[in-house]
Amino acid sequence: MVDKDKKIGIIGAGASGLSTAYFLENKGYRNVTVLEKGTRVGGKCFTIKYNDKTYELGAMMAVPSHLNILELMNKVGMERNGPVLYRGFFTPDGEKTQQIKNEEVVEFQRQFSRLPSILNKYNKILEPGLSKVHPDLYRPFKEWCIKNDIPLMEKVYGPPFTAFGYGYLDEIPAAYVLKFLDWETLTSFIEVTHLITWREGIQELWERIASELNDIRLSSEVKSIERKDKVIVNTDLETLEFDNIILTCPLDESIYFMDTSQKEKDLFKNIKYTKFNVFAYSIEGLPKVSGYIPHHLPSNMLGHVLVWYYRWQDMAYNDLITVYALGNDEIDESKCKAIVEEDLRRLGAKINRLHIHKSWKYFPHVDSETMAEGFYDKLEDLQSVNNTYYGGEIMSFSSIEQCIAYSKYLVNKFF
Ligand SMILES: Cc1cc2nc3c(=O)[nH]c(=O)nc-3n(C[C@H](O)[C@H](O)[C@H](O)COP(=O)(O)OP(=O)(O)OC[C@H]3O[C@@H](n4cnc5c(N)ncnc54)[C@H](O)[C@@H]3O)c2cc1C
Repeated sequence: MVDKDKKIGIIGAGASGLSTAYFLENKGYRNVTVLEKGTRVGGKCFTIKYNDKTYELGAMMAVPSHLNILELMNKVGMERNGPVLYRGFFTPDGEKTQQIKNEEVVEFQRQFSRLPSILNKYNKILEPGLSKVHPDLYRPFKEWCIKNDIPLMEKVYGPPFTAFGYGYLDEIPAAYVLKFLDWETLTSFIEVTHLITWREGIQELWERIASELNDIRLSSEVKSIERKDKVIVNTDLETLEFDNIILTCPLDESIYFMDTSQKEKDLFKNIKYTKFNVFAYSIEGLPKVSGYIPHHLPSNMLGHVLVWYYRWQDMAYNDLITVYALGNDEIDESKCKAIVEEDLRRLGAKINRLHIHKSWKYFPHVDSETMAEGFYDKLEDLQSVNNTYYGGEIMSFSSIEQCIAYSKYLVNKFF
């Protein structure tokens, strides 16, 4: 018999932890506790206010095919009432450019028309999680395009993938790209009026969800987890005992505070990240659209501006734009900032000042080889072992929709 009184601890109050708690409580579980090390909920859904307007330092949009987000929005009365993010493509010198060159248009259309039937073959990718995906999708996306004779598709997938901080198409396994950009999502990104944004900011969604939950503890960094008959969790402030634990924090970091098994260690050590920098500037002179720079999408342009977002069309001159660039250990925040500011000047902008900057350890993923060795099948096999469950971005993909979809799957399958 299912014990709805069992004590379930969830580590992390981001989209994954909060949606997991929400689905558990909706199913009747009465003792769910969410532990969050930060002083706010939302994790990578992080909205700030400046001159009475909201700006997103983390997630900023969804699309109509994101049914799980829409469902939660509906439950807590959030509307799609944010600004339209009009878009343009620019050269590094600030000239308008096109995503597809004139001479490529006919061939592009031919390849684009073949895309739905190619994607049909990989429909399993639409299910939650990444275990048992088609082996073709282990290879880097660019290679997969070439194999399917659709090399120009890189141009349509590049802006919503690389400019969104997910890394480079010649490196990242196709499984991740197609998990995020299924046909409906891809075509929604092509039509900007389909994008969903929120006037109050996305963090508001999670604050409203959190306010419906029974037990969320902020400033509660988990310092140790010991799994015996019960799961003993220590934070700075208290010792707690659970029947089950669900990790939605970075799994590779859990080795520092959890009694991780060899199997867990062997898997978690393969997890890689991108370093995604967001700079919020008060600026003048940039076109009032979301400006993508296709020239900066290849991996040899690391550190350069990928996109800037003009969130509000009616901005006064001293409001903020957010600017996005990938870095790594070598191109750290300060080097990246210098490159970004040089890029902004070249684009024709006058920088008044940097208001706030955030560098995210972003997009947990594994490489093609690790995926081919069965990383996801092995991780799924460990679900429930030692009263432990794994959720969060790594299990599916780093988007709000995929995080919620996986939380729902986890709760339905195991609880
Ligand atoms: C710049 C940026 C732009 C993005 N744009 C979009 C977008 O437009 N659309 C979209 O759908 N997605 C977007 N995303 C991705 C999306 O925001 C994330 O994939 C999603 O919010 C991740 O949720 P999560 O709960 O899995 O992880 P997180 O949000 O990272 O939450 C994990 C939580 O665990 C907590 N934690 C970690 N360790 C501990 C510990 N030891 N004890 C207690 N708590 C701990 C952390 O503080 C954090 O709050 C974007 C992300 C970024 C960074």
